[in-house]
Amino acid sequence: MKIAVSGAAGRMGRRIIAFAHEHPAAEIVGALENEGNPSLGKDVGELAGIGTIGVSVTDDVDKVVAACDVLVDFSTPEASLAHAKAAASAGKAIVVGTTGFSPTQKDEILDVGRSTRFLMAPNMSMGVNLLFDLVDRVARALGDEYDVEIVESHHRLKKDAPSGTAVKLAEVIAQALGRDLSSVGVYGRKGMVGERTPQEIGVMALRGGDIVGEHTVMFATNGERVELIHRAHSRDAFAKGALQAALWLVSRPVGVYDMQDVLGLKADK
Ligand code: NAD
Repeated sequence: MKIAVSGAAGRMGRRIIAFAHEHPAAEIVGALENEGNPSLGKDVGELAGIGTIGVSVTDDVDKVVAACDVLVDFSTPEASLAHAKAAASAGKAIVVGTTGFSPTQKDEILDVGRSTRFLMAPNMSMGVNLLFDLVDRVARALGDEYDVEIVESHHRLKKDAPSGTAVKLAEVIAQALGRDLSSVGVYGRKGMVGERTPQEIGVMALRGGDIVGEHTVMFATNGERVELIHRAHSRDAFAKGALQAALWLVSRPVGVYDMQDVLGLKADK
């Protein structure tokens, strides 16, 4: 599989390059960064800390898309949308790990994705995808008697809030409880906000230091609470998941997929 990485000089991009380089079924053929990025022209292996691999970072989207079977994109919502359009018109597969899409951007990228092999997931780790499944089951079992709150913590450099994973957790719970997240989602609290309504789903974002990513989902009622927690210790679980997704996607029919498909977590739904 010929793989190209967009956001190649970023925190995720560099780890994906390192894992792809080690994988016998993957060949790195392209590394994309934005125009004017200081990494342009540098060997992407050097940036990833694995030594020279003969692939220079470029901002030439068409050239990179033409060379690859699958583009793995961990950049920005605007860039991922543009790259998805380029990959779709060239008939190439694309894996999008970027988060922070506005609802309009998300609709647009999913629309573009329908014409190619397209996979998008706000979190590519096995543990978090299992957590999506678990919170669905817990929410259905506990029902409306339990207040649901989500707390996420990430490093100080993260740009979007709440995290894509926290948003997805809230979506899964809202769906399990038959609620409309756009009306019941509460993103932070300040001032005289009044008593908590039973329907609301609170989503709180903490930022600091080098925290890779932590998500706690709390179901609380009088007398007890259940907490489900995922802690990422490094970016490796996401990067390995992204590579696994790319290897899986290249041999699938045209369609829109997510990480639950890759990990076989949809089988019993
Ligand atoms: P980062 O800021 O370290 O890296 C992003 C990279 O994208 C930067 O190097 C930036 O220069 C580059 N970029 C910007 N515009 C570009 C363009 N037009 N073309 C190509 N590259 C461009 O961020 P990060 O921590 O690597 O995270 C990247 C994204 O992935 C974020 O949205 C983050 O939330 C998300 N993320 C997803 C998962 C997951 O499992 N799905 C895990 C971690 C992070």
